[in-house]
Amino acid sequence: MDYRLLADRYGTPLYVYDFDYMASQYETLKNSFNGKKSLIAYALKANSNLSVIARFASLGAGADCVSYGEVRRALIAGVPKYKIIFSGVGKLDEEIKGALDEDILFINCESEAELRRVEFIAQTLGKQARISVRVNPAIDAKTHPYISTGLKENKFGVDIATAKRLYIYAKNSERLEPIGIHFHIGSQLTDITPIAEAADKVADLARSLIALDIDLKFFDVGGGIGVTYKDEAAFDLSEYASKIALAIKGLDLTIICEPGRFLTAGGGVFLTRVLYEKHTDAKRFVVVDGAMNDLIRPALYNAYHRIEAIGKSGGENVCDVVGPICESGDFFAKNAPLPPVERGDLLAAHTTGAYGFTMSSNFNSRRRAAEVAVENGEDRLIRERETYDDLLAGEIKLLKADSQPKSRVF
Ligand SMILES: *Cc1c(COP(=O)(O)O)cnc(C)c1O
Repeated sequence: MDYRLLADRYGTPLYVYDFDYMASQYETLKNSFNGKKSLIAYALKANSNLSVIARFASLGAGADCVSYGEVRRALIAGVPKYKIIFSGVGKLDEEIKGALDEDILFINCESEAELRRVEFIAQTLGKQARISVRVNPAIDAKTHPYISTGLKENKFGVDIATAKRLYIYAKNSERLEPIGIHFHIGSQLTDITPIAEAADKVADLARSLIALDIDLKFFDVGGGIGVTYKDEAAFDLSEYASKIALAIKGLDLTIICEPGRFLTAGGGVFLTRVLYEKHTDAKRFVVVDGAMNDLIRPALYNAYHRIEAIGKSGGENVCDVVGPICESGDFFAKNAPLPPVERGDLLAAHTTGAYGFTMSSNFNSRRRAAEVAVENGEDRLIRERETYDDLLAGEIKLLKADSQPKSRVF
């Protein structure tokens, strides 16, 4: 891929996505479940650009959503409603109502209170709510604490005994239809053992529910498939798929898998230009035009992204690659070996197709970056760079006090 041409054409900072790579990741995963009924429900939060979602939808993917905003994205991008799932620990009434109105596949409930809220809203709408319960299997997924979700002390899901009680409650409810069972123990998982243990525990629960005449159809194993950022071993998809198949042996269940990172991370590159080199007594800094508002993973998780100086080599020397934001957390790499660079040189931060743009913000009143897709050797813009007008739109019309309705607070 000609990064320099893309940077010239679309400007920097810029996200570039290899759609052919993303499609092949999808096909590889889908094929690993061969011989089993399966649905790959892409976890939108990894990269929720409409064109990315539409690409997966065209391959047959469903969508795993964690807000009603994501449900809207999935529908607009062409994901059929019967392939859309809605998860998350804190759904608003209007989100539950939206999901029921759109008649998506199921709502994944994460607490007793939420299950009852879904029932209540279904009742007021005169509808049936298809649901699953997210089971927290109390298993250490051995990943970064911020993205571990299957531990007893995590906020996600309910324990096995509670889950059983909720399924029995749902079966007896006129408004609830329990059709799925779900777990998701964390993200960037590199070890299959905890996933297999979780699958076994949850499959045992599914067996006992089916014995109680609860008509489960979907066994949702969540996402979390790890990728290689640096030197992590490649995730063994065939072992993963066979462990899951083994867990539900003899049960007539469709496997749902909800990958986000696995499908998109390796297909993304973040391009940023060098502004200045700065040397202090202690350090060499390379200051670039991208910042933590564009790519927060290094600051938030101490995540590694390989930084490449495009078209440069030789004379490598360690440096910190930093952005212009007023925070010492504003860095892309620490002590990274880079050749000498000059103003205008292009740097690429690799493996940034997941949790890159979607976690970006307007911090420091910076405009969010543009996004570009490359497919079959052709590039196209899939999100315009924000303008300064975009930044101000929600405020400027309210600035004139006259235009506002008056109300007295005290
Ligand atoms: C975030 C999330 C996923 C996707 O996680 P990845 O690590 O990106 O695969 C899947 N399911 C649920 C419920 C999630 O919250």
